[in-house]
Amino acid sequence: MRDYLVIGAGSSGCVLAAELARREAGSVIVIEAGPSEVHPLVTIPMGLVWLMGSSRDWQFKTSPQECAGNRQITVPRGRMVGGSGSINSMVWFRGRKDDFDSWNVPGWRFADVEPAFQAVEAKLRPTPLKTAHKLTRGLTGIFPDTTPTPEHESAGVFSYNLINGRRNSAARAFLRTRHDIEVRTGCNVDRLIWQGDKAVGAVLADGSEIRVAKGVILSAGSVASPAILMRSGIGPKDHLTALGIDTRQDAPEVGENLHDHPGIGLHFEGPGSGYGLEPRQWLSWALAPLNYGLRRAGALASPTVEGGLFFNARGTDDLPDVQTHFIPFYLAHQGPKFPMKAGYFADICLCRPKSRGSFRLASKDPNAAPVIDLGLFRDESDLETMAEGVVRLRTLLRDADFGPRRGAEIFPSEAVTGEALKTHIRNTCGTAYHPVGTLRMGGPVSSRLKVESTENLWVADASIMPAVTSANTNAPSMMIGWKGAEFIAEDAA
Ligand SMILES: Cc1cc2nc3c(=O)[nH]c(=O)nc-3n(C[C@H](O)[C@H](O)[C@H](O)COP(=O)(O)OP(=O)(O)OC[C@H]3O[C@@H](n4cnc5c(N)ncnc54)[C@H](O)[C@@H]3O)c2cc1C
Repeated sequence: MRDYLVIGAGSSGCVLAAELARREAGSVIVIEAGPSEVHPLVTIPMGLVWLMGSSRDWQFKTSPQECAGNRQITVPRGRMVGGSGSINSMVWFRGRKDDFDSWNVPGWRFADVEPAFQAVEAKLRPTPLKTAHKLTRGLTGIFPDTTPTPEHESAGVFSYNLINGRRNSAARAFLRTRHDIEVRTGCNVDRLIWQGDKAVGAVLADGSEIRVAKGVILSAGSVASPAILMRSGIGPKDHLTALGIDTRQDAPEVGENLHDHPGIGLHFEGPGSGYGLEPRQWLSWALAPLNYGLRRAGALASPTVEGGLFFNARGTDDLPDVQTHFIPFYLAHQGPKFPMKAGYFADICLCRPKSRGSFRLASKDPNAAPVIDLGLFRDESDLETMAEGVVRLRTLLRDADFGPRRGAEIFPSEAVTGEALKTHIRNTCGTAYHPVGTLRMGGPVSSRLKVESTENLWVADASIMPAVTSANTNAPSMMIGWKGAEFIAEDAA
């Protein structure tokens, strides 16, 4: 029997497992619902275009969002070793220093988490994208002499966890470097096994069991970690009772506080602009595999998002409240997915959304789709900041050095402003795919990541964030995995 069971081999779980093993806290088994990450589409940066919506994506949807046109919005999540870090764009941001300070959780101020970021970065080696498209490089004209950071207004090419043009995920840099960790794929966890208040293992959806000696760590992400806890009897009593689950612990906050970075995109089109299937680019598309294979360059070397901006939506402060992801590809907004056009895309994502939603189970069946309510625009000020952000982004993009590659905004079009813009945002917005907060520290989970009123049970993934960081969430998720291993190893000692 192994000592520790890590549920979910995602960004956090891979770091946590490798760190636990390195610290010799005990033997480790990691179980993952999805398959292995060894696949060319995972390695090649542009591969994520095909991974999203494939069997390596959980393909969740939200419940109808009442303040966002009653739409069900897609919630992609990686379903393989490496988790969402095997399907993501590899954009690397720690967040803003005061994101962590304002969590106000002992042991999680920026000064406390910085060593964990440094340890993760020593292996992930994030660097600015070397092969950025000319359009992306033109963003530097907007806030000259800045490097993109959520700390102040800035623009340019982002940094990525890519090595030699290949994805360098938590799986590759941490989990797969240890040969003393057992990794089992195809293990969809239904619920935990208890001995009194102690977690001693997990029951899989096929009924088989895995037991361990020292404890269980939930690293299944913001959607699945609260789901597994609820199916194990820890959650809001009314909800569990309604589904026929025996309540071990009435924990009303499990599943609450769900939020994400809402995002709205502007689509641009122009001949000879960004990557696209217009006839003049056919030859370079035909040569793309060769270009990538020999030089690690061209469209296939692009993680799609290549850079962007951080700025204050109203332009009243140097402190950014929105982030723009810039994609130098023509993205279709209607009709065929790959039309014969060229263009680019830039979005507005809120750095610190105020709206909150919640996560619930639809049934106790581990294969049932869950009820994901992101609560988009429940706080109306989120909508106002996004609309202001769109207006200012249009102005800022005029300062980009796009030269002859500049396109025209075709969707929604510059004519859409004021109330019409707000309606457009409600009816078309999505998210940046950064759901967090469903098992927040200070709520169901302690500052040392233990699930309250249980023994030998921890959570280490994006679900423990009290509030989302001001930029992309992969680096913070890996930092959380590292911190989790530190706490568990200390407790074991
Ligand atoms: C398409 C996409 C693009 C993104 N782009 C970026 C980006 O460029 N930069 C950035 O910083 N962030 C990005 N993100 C977000 C970032 O990747 C996530 O915040 C981060 O990976 C979350 O880590 P995690 O460990 O909490 O969860 P995950 O990495 O999602 O890991 C959870 C793991 O648990 C497994 N699992 C789930 N349920 C079960 C179960 N019942 N039994 C067993 N295993 C289970 C899953 O299959 C998965 O492997 C993106 C996310 C997506 C989906």
